[in-house]
Amino acid sequence: MTIRLLDTLSGEQRELVPLEPGHVRIYSCGPTVYGPAHIGNFRSFLFADLLVRYLRKRGLRVTWVMNITDIDDKIIRGAAANGTPIGELADRWTERFRADGRALRMSDPDVLPRATGHIDEIVALVATLLDRGHAYRTEDGSIFFRIASWPAYGKLARLDPSQLRVGERVEADEYGKDDVRDFALWKGPKTGEPSWSTSIGEGRPGWHIECSAMSMTHLGETFDIHTGGVDLIFPHHEDEIAQSEAATGREFVRTWLHCAHLQMGGSKMAKSVGNIAGVNELLEAGVSPRALRYVLISAHYRASLNYTEDSLTAAASAIERLDALFLALGTYREERPDDPSLPVLLDETRTAFETALDDDLNVSPALAAVFDLVRELNRRIDARSLSTLDAGRAAGFLRELDRVLAIGPEPARDALEPELAALLEARATAREARDWAASDRLRDELVERGIVVEDSRDGQRWRRAGSLARA
Ligand SMILES: [Zn+2]
Repeated sequence: MTIRLLDTLSGEQRELVPLEPGHVRIYSCGPTVYGPAHIGNFRSFLFADLLVRYLRKRGLRVTWVMNITDIDDKIIRGAAANGTPIGELADRWTERFRADGRALRMSDPDVLPRATGHIDEIVALVATLLDRGHAYRTEDGSIFFRIASWPAYGKLARLDPSQLRVGERVEADEYGKDDVRDFALWKGPKTGEPSWSTSIGEGRPGWHIECSAMSMTHLGETFDIHTGGVDLIFPHHEDEIAQSEAATGREFVRTWLHCAHLQMGGSKMAKSVGNIAGVNELLEAGVSPRALRYVLISAHYRASLNYTEDSLTAAASAIERLDALFLALGTYREERPDDPSLPVLLDETRTAFETALDDDLNVSPALAAVFDLVRELNRRIDARSLSTLDAGRAAGFLRELDRVLAIGPEPARDALEPELAALLEARATAREARDWAASDRLRDELVERGIVVEDSRDGQRWRRAGSLARA
């Protein structure tokens, strides 16, 4: 088994060889909880989820850590703007993030650490940087990382540190810096802002330091994979490398993976552009969460992806094809010998699926392999060339691949509520009696309750109408 991933830092595709054999440690930069995450944020989170799910399917143990930024300028401003305590605001949006993640079938990270729960670790890291001469204090009690002390600065973003200009505006409270390039590790106390009394002084952590402290706390000083959106390469990840490696003297991350932006209407989806779509907002408008997941995972993570109504419709129809096949396989009965070519077909599909994902998580050919199989299985169902057992094998195989993709129907959805089951039963009786008028009336009644009925040689099949793009 060889899984190759393109490392942003070296620019090379590298074989994934976990530091600890069989155990991959992954850190993903998570949400800043001051408002709802939009689907552009979730593209990056679901890419990490796909990676985690795939590595697990390949038999690797994975420890996945995703941080929650719960103290930050934006949260402080948001809380002040609507008079909510900061902790309450952060709790509310953390809960929303988790609900959105569940709706989109994102696996639960093994650890979801919060910055405010790691003040001691952050303080210890800043203290080490002060001791080693990589950080200095300013008059207002802030502590900055001294970029001049770290010649390797700029290697991730491929910037020449001597040429580096800070494009972002310099915060008014950061004028005490020795060098405009330097970044805040610790922010001195300000009236109306939360702060902590610590051994390095009163204040609160800067944003970058929290990811170094939390990743190293939960995954060790060196770990296998760090993921995030491309917008985090500079300065966030550049700063993470500098402060972590300056503190430990060791390599921080072995492989950096960065997910491209989600575009909408031709521009990067961003709050500042104003073209954002929230997950919850879309789901409440009737978008199927599985179709949304499909859209967000269906392009290679480094390729730009344009979110459109058409892409959502195409995803919904792919999901419907999958649902229809699961239903057909579930009701298929044929007393005949097993199809000797089915195991070959399934093996070929598995090989194509894994070969694609082994190649830097190239999801498009993996999805193509799944939908080629869907087409071929439908053909064999129509030709009645499968045995009853074959149909069960094929369904089990699709479930196995779906542990990675997580776009298939919920197994629990196969159980129908008793009142609907009674309607379905009544319709079967009407059909046996060739009472077509009654049968049609019962079909309409089921449709009204969200159940689509189809007649096949194996009797009635039903599915929920919820797999459509819009209800
Ligand atoms: Zn981060």
